[in-house]
Amino acid sequence: MKAYTGKSVFGGIAIGKISVYKKNEHLIKRMKIHDADAEMERYKTARSEAILQLQGLYDKALKEVGEANAAIFEVHQMMLEDDDYNKSVENIVRNQEVNAEYAVAMTGDNFAQMFASMDDDYMRERAADVKDISERLITVLSGSEDSSADSKEPVIIVADDLAPSETVQLDKDMVLSFVTVHGSLNSHTAILARTMAIPALIGTPIPLDETVDGKLGIVDGITGIIYVDPDEDTLIEMQKKQAEETEKKNLLQTLKGRENVTLDGQKVMLYANIGNIKDLATVIQNDAGGIGLFRSEFIYLENDHYPTEEEQFQIYKKVAETMAGKRVIIRTLDIGADKQCDYFDMEHEENPALGYRAIRICLTRPEIFKTQLRALFRASAFGKIAIMYPMITSISEIKKIQEMVALVKAELNMEGIEHDNPEQGIMIETPAAAIISDELAKEVDFFSIGTNDLTQYTLAIDRQNTKLDEFYDPHHPAILRMISIVVENAHKAGIWAGICGELGADQSLTKEFLAMGVDELSVSPGSILPIRKIVLETNVEEYKAGK
Ligand code: PEP
Ligand code: MG
Repeated sequence: MKAYTGKSVFGGIAIGKISVYKKNEHLIKRMKIHDADAEMERYKTARSEAILQLQGLYDKALKEVGEANAAIFEVHQMMLEDDDYNKSVENIVRNQEVNAEYAVAMTGDNFAQMFASMDDDYMRERAADVKDISERLITVLSGSEDSSADSKEPVIIVADDLAPSETVQLDKDMVLSFVTVHGSLNSHTAILARTMAIPALIGTPIPLDETVDGKLGIVDGITGIIYVDPDEDTLIEMQKKQAEETEKKNLLQTLKGRENVTLDGQKVMLYANIGNIKDLATVIQNDAGGIGLFRSEFIYLENDHYPTEEEQFQIYKKVAETMAGKRVIIRTLDIGADKQCDYFDMEHEENPALGYRAIRICLTRPEIFKTQLRALFRASAFGKIAIMYPMITSISEIKKIQEMVALVKAELNMEGIEHDNPEQGIMIETPAAAIISDELAKEVDFFSIGTNDLTQYTLAIDRQNTKLDEFYDPHHPAILRMISIVVENAHKAGIWAGICGELGADQSLTKEFLAMGVDELSVSPGSILPIRKIVLETNVEEYKAGK
C-alpha cells in the first residue's frame, strides 16, 4: 500500500479503480527510415484504425448528444481521407526518408497554419480539427492508448492537471473522484468536483505511472489522502467511514422541503451553481431554491464552434422549464483566462487573468454577445430567467450592455418573438465594482459576489497558481469587508445581493454572512443541505451580540 497526501477540494470517500489520465501529448522524434513503402503501409494501417475509432465516437455521441454534436466525428473521418493531407504525409515520408509520426506532425502543423490564416470563419475553425486528427494518428502510430477512450467502469481519475476543456470531455458518470498533481483550490477542476459532489484532491505528489494506473484506490476527501493498493485493514476502515458519510448525507435529506430561515426569522435564498444541464438532477435532489450561477461558458467549451442562437436557446429553455418557475440566473459568457476555447482564436497574452475575458469579449465582439442575449431573452418566455454579467468594473460597461439589451428586445419585438423581461444583474468580482457598488446598484436588479475572482484581484494572487494557495486567504478582512459594503450598498438601493463564489459555501462563514444580511448563497448543489442545517440552527441577533 502507498499513501499520498494532497489538498482536499471536496469531502467524502471514493473507492474504485484508478485510471491515470494521459494527455495526448507526444514528443515526436524525427527518425531516418530505409523502407518508405513499409512506412507508408504502417501509416495506412494507422489511418484505418483512426477512422474506426472515430466511427465509434460518432456512434456514442449520436446516442448521447445528438446528431448535430456528433457530426464533428464524421468531419474528422472525412479529413483523414483527404487526398491533400495524405499526399503531404507521403511526400514527407518518401522525400525526407523520415518516420510517419514526424510526417503526420509536420503535415498537421502546416495544414493547421494554412486553415488558421483563412478569411472564412468556418475554415479557420478547421485548424483545431486538423491538429486533432493528427494527434489521433500519432497516438495510433506510437501504439499508445487514446486518452479520450472511456472506461467501462467508474474510476478515480489521477492526472497531472486537467484543463476545463479536458474535464468537459470526461464522461461524468464514470468519474468517482479526481486527484491531480497540480491545480489550485479555485481551478475549474476543483469547482467541477464540488458541483459533482465527489471527493477530490489537488496538489497531490502522486506518480502517474504503472505503480498507480489500474490499481485499487481509496480517496479520502476528509483527510486529503489517496491510498493506492490499500491493505485489508485500511480498506475495511475506509468502507466503514464511507458508510458513515452516506448516513450523514441521508440525515441531511430530512431537511428537504424546509424553508431557509434562522431561529430569529431571517430568511436566505439557497441556490445552486451549475455548469451544465446534466447538473440539474443534483440541483433538484438537493432542493435548491433556484440556480444562482449557470456558467454559460461551458456551452462554448463543450462545442467546437460558436454555439448558435438556437442551440443556446434550447439549453436555456430546458433549464428554465426544469426549474419550473424558480429563479435561474444565467451568467453570460465568461471565456478567457483559464477558460480557453480554440475557436475563439485568442491571441497569446502575458497576463490572461487581467486580459481579454468575459464582458470585455462580449462588448468588443457584439455578434457573439447578441446571439447569446437573443437566446436568453427567447428562453425567458419559458421560466424565470435572470441574466447576469461577469467581470464588471464600470458604469459605462453597464450602459453598453443596456444598449445591447434594448436592441435585442426591439429586434425580437419586431420579429414578433415572445420574450419576458428577465432581471438584469451583475457579478461583483473586481475591487472596482465593489468600491463603486453604490453607483452600480442604481443600474441593476441584483448583485452576485464572485469571491473567487474578487479574492484573486484584491490580494493580487493568481487563482490558478497552486504555489500561492498558502497566500490565497479568502477570509482576508479586505474581502469580508468588501462583501459587507456591497450588501449594504445593494440594500440602500433596494436590490438584493448574494454570493456565488466558492466562499459562499464556506460553512465557517455562514453565520457571518447572515449577520451581514447576505440575501442569497449560491453554492455547489451538495452544499445546500449542510448550509440549510446551519441556517436553521442560527440565531443571528445572538450571534451578532456574541461577536
Ligand atoms: C467567481 O469569480 O467567484 C465566480 C463565481 O466566477 P468564476 O469562478 O466562474 O470565475
Ligand atoms: Mg469569476
